Amino acid sequence: MKLYAKTAHELHDMLVAKEISAAELTESVLAQQAATEEKVGAYITTLADEAMAQAKAVDEKIAAGEKIGFLAGIPGAIKDNICTKGIKTTCASKMLENFVAPYDATVMTKLAAENPVVVGKTNMDEFAMGGSTENSAMKITHNPRNLDCVPGGSSGGSAAAVAAGSAIWALGSDTGGSIRQPASFCGVVGLKPTYGRVSRYGLVAFASSLDQIGPLTRDVTDAANIMNVISGHDMMDSTSSPAEVPDFTKALTGDVKGLKIGLPKEYFGAGIAPEVASSVKAAIEQLTKLGAEVTEISLPHTEYAVSTYYLIAPAEAATNLARYDGVSFGARVEGADIVEMMTNTRTQKFGPEVKRRIMIGNYALSAGYYDAYYLKALKVRTLIQRDFTEAFKSVDVIACPTAPTPAYKIGSMVSDPLAMYMMDISTVPLNLAGLPGISLPCGVAADGLPIGLQLMGKPLDEMTVLRAAYAYEQTQDYHKTLVPEGGAE
Ligand code: GLN
Repeated sequence: MKLYAKTAHELHDMLVAKEISAAELTESVLAQQAATEEKVGAYITTLADEAMAQAKAVDEKIAAGEKIGFLAGIPGAIKDNICTKGIKTTCASKMLENFVAPYDATVMTKLAAENPVVVGKTNMDEFAMGGSTENSAMKITHNPRNLDCVPGGSSGGSAAAVAAGSAIWALGSDTGGSIRQPASFCGVVGLKPTYGRVSRYGLVAFASSLDQIGPLTRDVTDAANIMNVISGHDMMDSTSSPAEVPDFTKALTGDVKGLKIGLPKEYFGAGIAPEVASSVKAAIEQLTKLGAEVTEISLPHTEYAVSTYYLIAPAEAATNLARYDGVSFGARVEGADIVEMMTNTRTQKFGPEVKRRIMIGNYALSAGYYDAYYLKALKVRTLIQRDFTEAFKSVDVIACPTAPTPAYKIGSMVSDPLAMYMMDISTVPLNLAGLPGISLPCGVAADGLPIGLQLMGKPLDEMTVLRAAYAYEQTQDYHKTLVPEGGAE
């Protein structure tokens, strides 16, 4: 198997055993990046020279007998809404087309301590608003499993890079599903941590009460290892959790005897493609064979989750995006006076979806409508949170599909934003409740496109989520077969 198609933990072991060098590995990934980028388009910025320099530095450390971290020398990619000092952070927006952050996000500082190799910044929906990466102002990203299809979004570039072999691992962000849904569409593993588990310092804000950074990887073991690197309290993010960070790899036991899994009946209803429902149910069946106990549960307010999310997220976005005024940073389009300058800047530099959300958000927050929309949405959010609290009294983990369908054709949904919003039905409740969740491959649809199983956990209980995911992963080999050996066709 080619080096670019392996997992980070396999490669780490090979590096430690001196079977390969970081330079050789990085060359393999960069060659795959060069071979696939034209077709896949996962990256906004590629960093071949920087990556080779980082790889050589790791080889020197290894030669000097120094102990290396898990990610040392392993090529990865970073979503382009995570600030990287000295490297552009565009959020796939004309507004930040030339923006270079003067500082690193906390996750980047934590990663740097491990000496990873960063091969690029990945494409995404503009400001992370979308579920297909088609809202990028930069380019279209194609699903490496089927180039006519979307990779999902908004972390579509990160998921596509991992699936195409142009990165071994990636970081994404998840506000309403943006790690889990592209992971599902591209057949990789994506973990959204508990709100507060990972610092948001240096993540360009979309909806501050929902955003979380997390890993996209080839398997569950890599996700657990990356969680070990990026988690923890941060002085720079007052919403980050002071809770102790466990060693997430300790969850990878394969033992799920007695684990109580809840199946929420609302997640298997209308709109879920039959092949998705049957693959997910088959995966749950596997877990029962390993000794897990399954019960049907109810999360009664699920049907309100999409409406609630599409009030709260735009309201927060409208507020967060007020800072792009042509003055502080980012693009400026001149005008006769300051009002005209701001108007020109925001009119010309934000894309249509971002503008739509700013308008919805400001409307929901405006004096006359605040109570009817924003405040009501906050109340429903509490009801959704309570649904989970209630359910988790009797189960340890909740299992359901990540997305109602496999990846769809590029262009097939763009003219219908509401239909696109409805696709977020299985992912947004978790963000509203602030809980951890993972998506991992559990099947392949008739047309060869991957299907994702979502496992959701209690607050700060990524351990149980990882434990169940790992145990299931050991029973099948979707995570191996789905990485295209020869690269995207
Ligand atoms: N698809 C959702 C949206 O458009 C989620 C995006 C995200 O998680 N960043 O808002």
